[in-house]
Amino acid sequence: MRNKVVAGNWKMNKTMAETESLLHELSAKLPDTSAEVMVAPTSVNLAAAVHMLESSAIETIAQNMHFAESGAYTGEIAADMLLSIGVNTVILGHSERRAYFGETDELLADKVKTALNKSMRVIFCFGEELEERQAGSHFEVVERQLKNALFDLPAEAWKQIILAYEPVWAIGTGETASPEQAQEMHAFIRETIAKAYDATLADLVTILYGGSVKPGNAKDIFSKPDVDGGLIGGASLVADDFIAIIKAI
Ligand code: 13P
Repeated sequence: MRNKVVAGNWKMNKTMAETESLLHELSAKLPDTSAEVMVAPTSVNLAAAVHMLESSAIETIAQNMHFAESGAYTGEIAADMLLSIGVNTVILGHSERRAYFGETDELLADKVKTALNKSMRVIFCFGEELEERQAGSHFEVVERQLKNALFDLPAEAWKQIILAYEPVWAIGTGETASPEQAQEMHAFIRETIAKAYDATLADLVTILYGGSVKPGNAKDIFSKPDVDGGLIGGASLVADDFIAIIKAI
């Protein structure tokens, strides 16, 4: 049985006071669920969020980290810093990091290795851009992203990996991949992992869908057999919407 996960990526949103208020509301309204629920506030508020969620089932996770152990990397955050405040899971490879901060598959391979060496869990994001889908190269793009960043890892390491397929054209645009498009890609991802490793390993990897998931479409998307949950942007900033999405799993 694969773990189900619903994770909220807050991106560059919410001040300290807003973080407190949203976490308070989420903790109070969190339904009983077998899914793992996670939120990724901005790094400035991570320590406070961990503290606030101490007695909650919601896990606080990070949006990004650096590959180096420590050193002269002004403005960056190391794995040990996250671990030292109780953050054990990190999102890596988000399309916004790739597009606006020049993160490449090769850099991400280094970040993933660092996180795994530190025994952290990684939510690894990838997905094609609109032109790539229109050109029919989306499967090829996704396969390349996975291969370059992850397929050098030993099979054992996959226990610490959660995948998040986020087609760039569906992020923050209101345009969602149809449940069929999500299922088709998720099945392809599983097949690709099975070829690189084996079917048993592929079957155990949690694969999330991300891109304009809302209370109104979550149930249909989550009902697909290879979709194991969601990475939620905009809708995770509104407590009732995020809660409704958690209920849909
Ligand atoms: P939206 O849900 O706002 O489309 O964002 C998805 C996303 O990028 C989550 O990481």
